[in-house]
Amino acid sequence: MIIVMKPDATREDVDQVLARLESIGSEAHVSVGQTHTVIGVIGDRDRIQQLPWEALSGVERAVPVLKPFKFVSRDFRDKDTVIEVRRARIGGGSFAVVAGPCAVESRDQLFRVAEAVQQAGAHILRGDAFKPRTSPYAFQGLGEKGLELLAEARDEFDMPFVAEVLDPRDVELVSSYADILRVGTRNMANFTLLTEVGKQSRPVQLKRGFTATVEEWLNAAEYIYKEGNHEIIMVERGIRTFETSTRNTLDISAVPVVKGLSHLPVLVDPSHSAGHRHLVAPLSRAAIAVGADGFMVDVHHAPDTALVDGAQALLPSEFAALMDEIRSLAAAMNLQI
Ligand code: PEP
Ligand code: MN
Repeated sequence: MIIVMKPDATREDVDQVLARLESIGSEAHVSVGQTHTVIGVIGDRDRIQQLPWEALSGVERAVPVLKPFKFVSRDFRDKDTVIEVRRARIGGGSFAVVAGPCAVESRDQLFRVAEAVQQAGAHILRGDAFKPRTSPYAFQGLGEKGLELLAEARDEFDMPFVAEVLDPRDVELVSSYADILRVGTRNMANFTLLTEVGKQSRPVQLKRGFTATVEEWLNAAEYIYKEGNHEIIMVERGIRTFETSTRNTLDISAVPVVKGLSHLPVLVDPSHSAGHRHLVAPLSRAAIAVGADGFMVDVHHAPDTALVDGAQALLPSEFAALMDEIRSLAAAMNLQI
């Protein structure tokens, strides 16, 4: 249930509601909006509904939430969540561009790509130190050494970076280096990992599972949110369908669907959706037009020799051309870029 306080409710009114909730053993999450304070309540539904909430001072209404996800829903908070990481801003009218290599391969590779994407206007660097590979014999990432290189590149090019965390046991380690954590498509329903990243004070990119419905994806976000980490960035990265001409089918409609259901920002990953370089620019244009809050693109200075996902990586020059194109689209959509 959600308890919406009146615009003139006092701190004491809110405290009184919280005390009543505590007395019946319910969990409460308070969201202070511009006009209303909203209290999200989790607990025994019958006990919660028995109490006359609307008779309490300062309470405007008590609304049952029928959806399985609650705190990430717009019912709980109608204002868009805006996430700021260093100078980068995601959501609330800012279009965020995340770019970099799929995997960190070496200092030289990372620095070349990081410099190029920074000069072209990207806001956040991507690069993974732990890679989830289909084959156990494929390159698995440089591990902590990769995180050290990413931290060096962040300082050199003044860009926050995002890196994937694969294993609950590595959450502390990745959090100690990365500005933003990422849960990849294969781990979207790894509830132990979601719970661990939910305890961190780092924003989390949550990729959609490639076989997950929007509702399952939002429930995964709820796992993170309820642990106390409210800075969640949803990333649509394509789903598995019968179509084989792309690596995954970019579900472009999921962007407005999620933005309608949730206050969380949504990014699009055209690289992992398409799997082919020539499709990245058209899908990036689609992302901006459909209302996404940003995109995340793979860039590599020598895609033919990339250790991971070379076929979908843009050359730095292609990325720079895409950024030029995107700037006029952003202006047309009234977005800051
Ligand atoms: C990635 O972004 O590098 C990645 C592995 O993506 P996904 O989890 O969407 O496959
Ligand atoms: Mn990849």
